[in-house]
Amino acid sequence: MTEAQATHRTGKRVLLAKPRGYCAGVDRAVQTVEEALKLYGAPIYVRKQIVHNKHVVQTLEAQGAIFVEENEEVPEGATVVFSAHGVAPEVHEQAKARSLKAIDATCPLVTKVHHEARRFAAEDYDILLIGHEGHEEVIGTAGEAPAHIQLVDGPDGADKITVRDPEKVVWLSQTTLSVDETLETVARLKQRLPLLQSPPSDDICYATSNRQHVVKEIAADCDVVIVVGSTNSSNSVRLVEVALDAGARAGHLVDFAHEIDDAWLEGATTVGLTSGASVPDDLVQEVLVHLAARGFADVEEITTANERLTFSLPQELRRDMKAAAARG
Ligand code: SF4
Repeated sequence: MTEAQATHRTGKRVLLAKPRGYCAGVDRAVQTVEEALKLYGAPIYVRKQIVHNKHVVQTLEAQGAIFVEENEEVPEGATVVFSAHGVAPEVHEQAKARSLKAIDATCPLVTKVHHEARRFAAEDYDILLIGHEGHEEVIGTAGEAPAHIQLVDGPDGADKITVRDPEKVVWLSQTTLSVDETLETVARLKQRLPLLQSPPSDDICYATSNRQHVVKEIAADCDVVIVVGSTNSSNSVRLVEVALDAGARAGHLVDFAHEIDDAWLEGATTVGLTSGASVPDDLVQEVLVHLAARGFADVEEITTANERLTFSLPQELRRDMKAAAARG
């Protein structure tokens, strides 16, 4: 019997989501550290995890990156890269005070939200920032205008806020939230603040919404959805929640293929597979090999969007790369 015939008999299959994995902001941030290592040599200090993925962090560490929590841990005059999640202005000030060479790998789509926060604060709006308390991106955005920003952590958080002028309020959001839950939060806010203004353009980024959209398409057909991603990755955690909300019988987040428990696959016919925006596709391919060894060799890729967006490397790095190239 051929493998195809065997698959047909067992009926076991994988629905592989596309788009999945690396987004433009993560790709740029990881490349920033790699290029900085090549250009300036190791060590390169990175404030916080460059992107929220265990494997990526371990790989960069092996190449000479040193991950720190705060600028104070970076030796004076050394090079530090700020992560894709963005930083508050005071972090730039601290770096200057320590004479650090700072390279800002903040995703341009996070920077866009920072600009919105500054603009609305300058116009003296109350800003309701929908996001998860303690997440680095939220800390960075809130740091742009702490006197004007209040955090709204989910729909229930909407009932707790108070504003100075209900006619001058705008909501902004973290880029990696659940699209549906955010709409629910906004609806709750609007019950109390009918004149609440919306951001000039979507703050939840294209990568987050595209990955959620395709998971919704496949979830109802899946006995189990496996999301490759780390537990501190907001968009990866959201993918599990979205899969369950959209009808998947079970959903699990794993960093690596070996974390998949065989019990999850017992009695399953269809496994959905996707990955968060900070996950290299090698890890997904390893999961496919793992699943094939358990009879799930029939893989159908379900595509709901093709992503072509790319971002250029941070200006300060490009300038030094150009100067080094000119020196030969
Ligand atoms: S998930 Fe979105 S906001 Fe975050 S790095 Fe990727 S593109 Fe940028």
